[in-house]
Amino acid sequence: MTVLARSTEAGDALADRIITCPLPGGWRGPTFPVLNPATGAHLTDVADMGPDEAKAAVKAASQALASWAGRTAKERAAILMAWHDRILQNKDELARLLTLEMGKPLAEAAGEVAHGASYIAWFAEEAKRLYGDVIPTNDPNRRMLAIRQPIGVVAAITPWNFPSAMIMRKVAPALAAGCTVVIKPAEDTPLSAIALLQLAGEAGMPEGVLSLVTCRKPAEIARVLTDHRDVRKLSFTGSTAVGKLLMRQCADTVKKVSLELGGNAPFIVFADADLDTAVNSAMLAKFRNAGQTCISANRFLVEASVLPAFTEKLLARIAGLKAGDGLEAGTSLGPIINEAGLAKIDRLVTTAMEQGATLLTGGYRIERPGTFYAPTVLADVTPAMDISKAEIFGPVVTLSAFETEAEAIRLANDTDYGLAAYAFTREMGRLWRLPEALEFGMVAMNEGTVGSEAAPFGGVKESGIGREGSRVGIDEYAEIKYVGMGGI
Ligand code: NAD
Repeated sequence: MTVLARSTEAGDALADRIITCPLPGGWRGPTFPVLNPATGAHLTDVADMGPDEAKAAVKAASQALASWAGRTAKERAAILMAWHDRILQNKDELARLLTLEMGKPLAEAAGEVAHGASYIAWFAEEAKRLYGDVIPTNDPNRRMLAIRQPIGVVAAITPWNFPSAMIMRKVAPALAAGCTVVIKPAEDTPLSAIALLQLAGEAGMPEGVLSLVTCRKPAEIARVLTDHRDVRKLSFTGSTAVGKLLMRQCADTVKKVSLELGGNAPFIVFADADLDTAVNSAMLAKFRNAGQTCISANRFLVEASVLPAFTEKLLARIAGLKAGDGLEAGTSLGPIINEAGLAKIDRLVTTAMEQGATLLTGGYRIERPGTFYAPTVLADVTPAMDISKAEIFGPVVTLSAFETEAEAIRLANDTDYGLAAYAFTREMGRLWRLPEALEFGMVAMNEGTVGSEAAPFGGVKESGIGREGSRVGIDEYAEIKYVGMGGI
């Protein structure tokens, strides 16, 4: 089922239009509430779809596939660019909606929308470069070709922490390659998805090419998408536990899967590092999105001789963080998405202290409406503690000391995850050695973030399979077909 929000007053701002009228035309079925995590306020009610709607969406995507794939790359790129332009024209409204349903500070939300849109522009161009090969023949009477074709109908399941960018990062390469897509957004944040679909419709996206299935309980819908023979590819971003489950479910129909899963990023600071750069980067890598980012720094490993200086500078910066409603000017730390997320963080911090960690600041829920956790720093953290093994997904720094480069690498790699890693050093040889030695899909040297539409994003080990963005991102949505021609 294609879900396009109905416009109310033509003059209404996009966010108000979606909140006032989030239901697909004629929806008579059940609904579920969307809450603002910064205030606890009820924002609106969204369609709680079931297996029938999921099947209808797959059917529409199957029916639209041949004509979408049959368009020239240039035609698909033009529609993608029209969508991109509408998104940027509505950037402030999309950001407001995102902050309302997810909580992140407004400037971060605007950054997310622009970042997501950059994938649409990138893949609109890449659509025109889905080249094949003419292979040198092994017989004078034969010619050999390899062509790349869209894989088919794609199911995209996305998380709440980047409710806008994660959709664009998946949908853009899929549509560019000629696939059609059914999106299932996270239940906490369906409004950004509805707004993006609305803008896609306005940009001329044909019926059935892009559909949205919103629901409160995802398992049933995901089962339809993973079991359906017409769905040829699952692209999932979310937790490692759910990723494993969906991968198993996809086995029965041997679907291609891309999995962007959880992380447990080390943040390594050597004694020769520029400590101010390291601390600035730590603020970004840890406190962006209140620490609810798959690439969030999770384990701070600091060379023993500079640990006191690093800790002092970091605590000073943390004291300047302002928790609050992301719509209010000056807010630098938004809420945790919901009570369950907050309880998990609190449990990890409490257990770490029971296991011997020292609390330097924070360690409590902020008493105010909404679900806020205080910026927290724990020292004397060891690899054996639960908090070192888990993805914290909150504004909590864990500090551990190391003595040698070999020890730092061993500690950093001591995790089942392998998404992002950060390291800070000014030694030339180490700048080369570390990225090669760290078992992660992305390594940031002397900076506090990774991620660009031009660069491959993805993990190794239990952090996932496949890459999004860059020139390889479109390959996830294409099949290579060999064509042999005899009798030449
Ligand atoms: P989640 O796994 O709980 O949910 C992700 C999506 O899966 C949502 O749409 C949800 O509705 C759906 N889902 C949940 N349970 C399901 C089930 N039993 N069957 C089918 N679908 C189900 O994750 P989350 O809490 O929404 O997101 C946070 C996680 O996502 C973190 O682990 C984070 O690291 C990860 N993440 C990874 C990346 C990346 O690029 N690697 C990016 C963002 C988030």
